[in-house]
Amino acid sequence: MSEKNVLDIIPMNEWLPFSQKPVLIAGPCSAESEEQLLRTARGIKEHFDEFVFRAGIWKPRTRPGMFEGIGVIGLDWMKRVKEETGALLTTEVAMPMHVEKALKAGIDILWIGARTTVNPFSVQELADALKGVDVPVLVKNPAFPDLQLWIGALERINRAGVKKLATIHRGFHSYEVTAYRNQPHWEMALELKVLYPNVPMICDPSHICGNTKLTAHVAQKAMDLHYDGLMIESHIDPLRALSDARQQVTPERLYEIISGLVIRNPIGDEQKTPLQELREKINEIDDDLVQAIAARMMVSKNIGEYKRDNNLIVFQMNRWEEILKRVLRLSEDMGLHREFVKQLYVLIHDESIRVQEQVMNAPKKLATAS
Ligand code: PEP
Ligand code: MN
Repeated sequence: MSEKNVLDIIPMNEWLPFSQKPVLIAGPCSAESEEQLLRTARGIKEHFDEFVFRAGIWKPRTRPGMFEGIGVIGLDWMKRVKEETGALLTTEVAMPMHVEKALKAGIDILWIGARTTVNPFSVQELADALKGVDVPVLVKNPAFPDLQLWIGALERINRAGVKKLATIHRGFHSYEVTAYRNQPHWEMALELKVLYPNVPMICDPSHICGNTKLTAHVAQKAMDLHYDGLMIESHIDPLRALSDARQQVTPERLYEIISGLVIRNPIGDEQKTPLQELREKINEIDDDLVQAIAARMMVSKNIGEYKRDNNLIVFQMNRWEEILKRVLRLSEDMGLHREFVKQLYVLIHDESIRVQEQVMNAPKKLATAS
């Protein structure tokens, strides 16, 4: 039996009537202390009149023994944030007990995390706990790239009667080394938008990037694709954060990112000239090229670590000859100019060597996990 692609949704501007676009959800990965929450919220409030303040109270950590969230005491701190700044509050719920405690504390919006969306049992338990409750729910994409699981979670929550529903695109786990912590797979989010055009979509560049270098770029991409909002992790002192330290931005940097966004008019898209369309394609390909180069450099870094640990030399002539031979053969087949590819690869290879040397000369770092 085929299911209808219909979700019974109340438009986001009815339950989140912000005049500022995109809708902004910002705040630290985790609630750590009352002071950290208040200082962060004040910092954000300095720049934004309207925002939803986020903080994880219960944290789904990949490995045990790491900071697993401050627990219910953090909900009292969240209340203080609301009293002081007037911001709406959101937190992650993964168990019925979380729903109960969060609602009791007056949390305005709940979100379901990527590690929960993957599990239909957990999602159903949350859906059951949400029956008869009028609270907006944001459903993050599942941690691995399975669109049906994402849709299934939306359906379960919607069937429980939750009509104030939106999605959060936070990228997908990949075993491969890439420039991102979580591969965006924009095509999958866009497919969801095509199937369910009435479901608002929020982008979470922080979890896609895993660092702060690409946050602005990913946020801009989401705006170009007409997403409805952004969720960005912001911490008053990111480097001291107890979770996701590398990807959080200060409130000041958050302001720079948001004020630097170019919001294009969707109507303009219908009048794109062929030249504009071709240029957009070029931009997309350039993004892919730069990301592929960044991924290649990351592998070079890993090679550098291996060579350092095994006392090997950085430059190996026969390996360079092999690389060049391979790419020249492929580029000839693709009809590319041989001299151009050769020059390009000399540059790429030089940079790889530089990256490897940098690793070999740097002191060893202790392993970290997220
Ligand atoms: C988070 O928002 O801090 C979080 C844990 O998110 P995700 O479920 O996307 O990993
Ligand atoms: Mn986080």
